[in-house]
Amino acid sequence: MSASIELRNKRVLVVGLARTGLATALFCAARGARVTATDARSEKELADSIAPLRKAGVGLEFGGHRQELIRDADLIIPSPGVPADAPLLQSARAKGVTIWSEVELASRFLKGRLIGITGSNGKTTTTSLIEHILRSAGFSTILAGNIGTPLISCVDKASDKSVTVAELSSFQLELIETLRPNISVFLNLTPDHLDRHHTLESYGAAKARIFENQTEADSAVLNADDPGTTPYALTKPQVYWFSRRQRVVQGAFVKENEILFRRDGVEEPVLQLTDIPLAGAHNVENVLAAVAATRLAGAEPAAIAKGVRSFAGVEHRLEFVAEIGGVRFYNDSKATNVDATLKALDAFPGRILIILGGKDKGSDYTLLQAPLREKAILALLIGAAAGKIEKQIAGSVAIEQAGTIERAVETAAHAARAGDIVLLAPACASFDQFQNYEHRGRVFKELVQQLERQATSTTSGGR
Ligand code: ADP
Repeated sequence: MSASIELRNKRVLVVGLARTGLATALFCAARGARVTATDARSEKELADSIAPLRKAGVGLEFGGHRQELIRDADLIIPSPGVPADAPLLQSARAKGVTIWSEVELASRFLKGRLIGITGSNGKTTTTSLIEHILRSAGFSTILAGNIGTPLISCVDKASDKSVTVAELSSFQLELIETLRPNISVFLNLTPDHLDRHHTLESYGAAKARIFENQTEADSAVLNADDPGTTPYALTKPQVYWFSRRQRVVQGAFVKENEILFRRDGVEEPVLQLTDIPLAGAHNVENVLAAVAATRLAGAEPAAIAKGVRSFAGVEHRLEFVAEIGGVRFYNDSKATNVDATLKALDAFPGRILIILGGKDKGSDYTLLQAPLREKAILALLIGAAAGKIEKQIAGSVAIEQAGTIERAVETAAHAARAGDIVLLAPACASFDQFQNYEHRGRVFKELVQQLERQATSTTSGGR
């Protein structure tokens, strides 16, 4: 996909030893690089994961990142969690040391075709959906990204025939140089991670780098309905659009409850909106993007329709958990920003009891007022942001300060009646009370499943 690189005897510094960093250090060591890896955590905290690194001869430094490490490096690969403007990276840049994200390094070794997906929301869903459609259409696929495997760990599996479908975050894209997807998808752009990117412009520009190295032989897929992404349509790659609202010149769109794909003036019906097994208008957007990308990759319309119909969705993304006494419970723990929560509220007709709160990311929760007023009957607030959220949504819906997710589920279950929706879509990060959003989602699901068991035993006990 891009210029190869000889790693033998290169001095590589890997910063951060989470899953991606570990895989990167091992990858480089296996190719003869002299690797040093550093992490802010202590040796004790990392004990389990570092044994393979020692075995591979990787030099290790714990408890911080010493500036001197830069002096001895030809190439630095920071983990996605390390901000591009971290002091260590700033001084490395000043000294002219090459800094790449792991995906840049991986792309230099990757065989076959690459489909890259970026955006503020919907990356994981769309990446999984594209991979699922192509796999069920008979392509040899590899799924890479947040939920799956880091791209670097996919290199050895890839062949000239494979299609690697990779979710690419702005943090990864801002440190690329030659990475060039054959098909790039830019789903949407809404404020998120502004704590790291500072302005929406620089966040958008980082994502738009997905198109930077594409040529006329490649395709770019953008959201025609999102003014955040449209300015990034470049002239180099072939541009395709997706839209829920308008017929596009080239790409996928909705016409009278049907999704069509249009290319060079020819329109093909692909599937009915009712074929989509996922809730919410935002998922129609994800499907449209996937239809465009998979059609461009060579899948036939009938195979695409079949793939969409059989897609089971991704855990923690508007995931249906259970129906208890006519009340349906949904886990959207991945709704870690206001926009995702707006989309979740939009997915249901009304009578929603919503669990909101967690760790604030500097968000503006007043945006939730109108949909809460229209669709919600109770907001149950949890976590550190509860006070701020209460102030910002006051007057739009009844509020209950629940504190914990346990109390929130219990209260919601008592307050809900048949036909209502209990929705965890917190609009916040989870780190104040949970290890991560997956943990939060699992706890929610366990609580709901407990309720379900109680309900079943009460019912069967009464028989
Ligand atoms: P990402 O990988 O970009 O975080 P996910 O697919 O994991 O995206 O979804 C994250 C959250 O955003 C979920 O809560 C989901 O309901 C919501 N979401 C999914 N697709 C979209 C979209 N196209 N636009 C807005 N929100 C979306």
